[in-house]
Amino acid sequence: MLNFNFQNPTHIHFGEGQISVLAKEVPADARVLVVYGGGSIKSNGVFQQVSDALKNHTWFEFSGIEPNPTYDTLMKAQEIIQAEKIDYLIAVGGGSVVDGAKFIAAAAKYEGDDPWDIIVKQQPVKQALPIAAVLTLPATGSESNGNSVVTRNGSKIPFSSPLVRPLLAVLDPSVTLSLSERQISNGVVDAFVHIIEQYLTYNVNGKVQDRFSEGLLQTLIEEGPKALDPASKDDLEIRANIMWSATMALNGLIGAGVPQDWSTHMIGHELTGAFGVDHARSLSIVLPALMQVRREQKREKLLQYAERVWHINEGDDNTRIDKAIQCTIEFFKKMQVPTSLSDADISSKDIDLLVGRLEQHGMTALGEHNDISLEVSREILLKAL
Ligand code: NAP
Ligand code: FE
Repeated sequence: MLNFNFQNPTHIHFGEGQISVLAKEVPADARVLVVYGGGSIKSNGVFQQVSDALKNHTWFEFSGIEPNPTYDTLMKAQEIIQAEKIDYLIAVGGGSVVDGAKFIAAAAKYEGDDPWDIIVKQQPVKQALPIAAVLTLPATGSESNGNSVVTRNGSKIPFSSPLVRPLLAVLDPSVTLSLSERQISNGVVDAFVHIIEQYLTYNVNGKVQDRFSEGLLQTLIEEGPKALDPASKDDLEIRANIMWSATMALNGLIGAGVPQDWSTHMIGHELTGAFGVDHARSLSIVLPALMQVRREQKREKLLQYAERVWHINEGDDNTRIDKAIQCTIEFFKKMQVPTSLSDADISSKDIDLLVGRLEQHGMTALGEHNDISLEVSREILLKAL
C-alpha cells in the first residue's frame, strides 16, 4: 500500500426526512445562500423541505446553475453574496450544483484579481465559504469530496481543495425518485467509473481498498438495472444502496493508498466539451476502449476484476480479460448508455479535434503511469469508434 493521508469530515445525514436537520445543523446566525439548478427541486418538493427547515434562518436564493456549471453563471452569484453579506452556502441539487457551490465559495473569498485563476492557474484556495449539500442525484460524490469541475468557453477544468468539501451532506434516497431514467443511469455509470479509476491500475497490495471497490462495483451492477426496471424502480432500498455507493465511490476512502488513473474522465471531458455528451455517457464510451488499449499495463488488475467482480474463471488470461471487458459493455448497455463514439454520432473525422483539445488542456501524460500520451489517447479514441 502507498502512504496516504485520509480525513473525511463531511457529516452525512442519510435517510428519508433528513433534510429537516438543516434547521439545527446550519448555524442559527448564518446568512445563507441556497443555490440550485434549473428548478427540479421546485417540482419534487425538495425546495419546500429546505424552506421549511430554514424557516428560522436568514436566507436568500440563487438559481440557474446548469449541468456542467459554467464560470459565467457561477460568477453571477458573487453579486448577491456581497450585497447580502452571505457567509454560508447550501447547495441543493446534483453534482453540478454542488460543484458550482464549491467554486462560488472559493471565488467569494479569493484575494487575487481573477477567481478564474483558481482553475486555470490552479491557484490554491486559501479560504472559502462553508458549504452544506442536499444531494438530489447520486453520482459524483461531490457531496463529500473537495473536487469541482467548472466549464468556461466549452472547456471543463477541475480544481480541488479540502476547504470546499461540504461540512455536511443530506442524502435522502426518496428525493431521487423524481429522477428520469437517463439521470439514474448516468449517476450509476459515473459512480461505477469513479471506482474503476481508483481500482483498475496496478497492484500495490491495497487489499482493503480493492475489496471495498469490488463490493461497490458489485452493488452498482446489481442495483443499477433494478432502478430502471418498472417493477422495482421506486424501491427506496435500491435507491439507498445506489446513493450510498456513489458517495463511497468518491469520498477518498477507496482511493487512499492506491494508484489512480482518471484518464477516462479526462478524455471524457473533451467529449462533453466538444459535443455536449452527458458526463457519464462520455465515460461509458471511453472506458471499454481504454481497457482494451491498456490491457497490458492493467493486466493483473483486469484479471482480478474479471475474477472477483464478474466471477470469470474460465479460459486463458486474454480470454478472461476479453470477457470482463464484454461484461462491462453489457452492464453499460443494461444501463442504457452508449458504449462507442458512433453510438453518440461522433466519427473518425472528429478525433483530431478531440486530441487537439486534450493537448490544449495539457492532458498529455494521463493515467496511473502518466504514460497516456496524446498518441495513446488517439488510439483509445480510435478504438472507441
Ligand atoms: P447534474 O448535472 O447535477 O444534474 C443533471 C440534471 O438532473 C439536471 O438537469 C438537474 O435538474 C436534474 N436533477 C437533479 N436532481 C434531480 C431530481 N432529484 N429529480 C429530477 N431531476 C433532477 O448531474 P450530476 O451527474 O450529479 O453532475 C454532473 C457534474 O458533476 C458534471 O459537471 C461532472 O463533471 C461533475 N463531476 C464532479 C465530480 C466531483 O467529484 N466533484 C465527479 C464527477 C463528476 P435541475 O438543474 O433542475 O436541478
Ligand atoms: Fe465523474
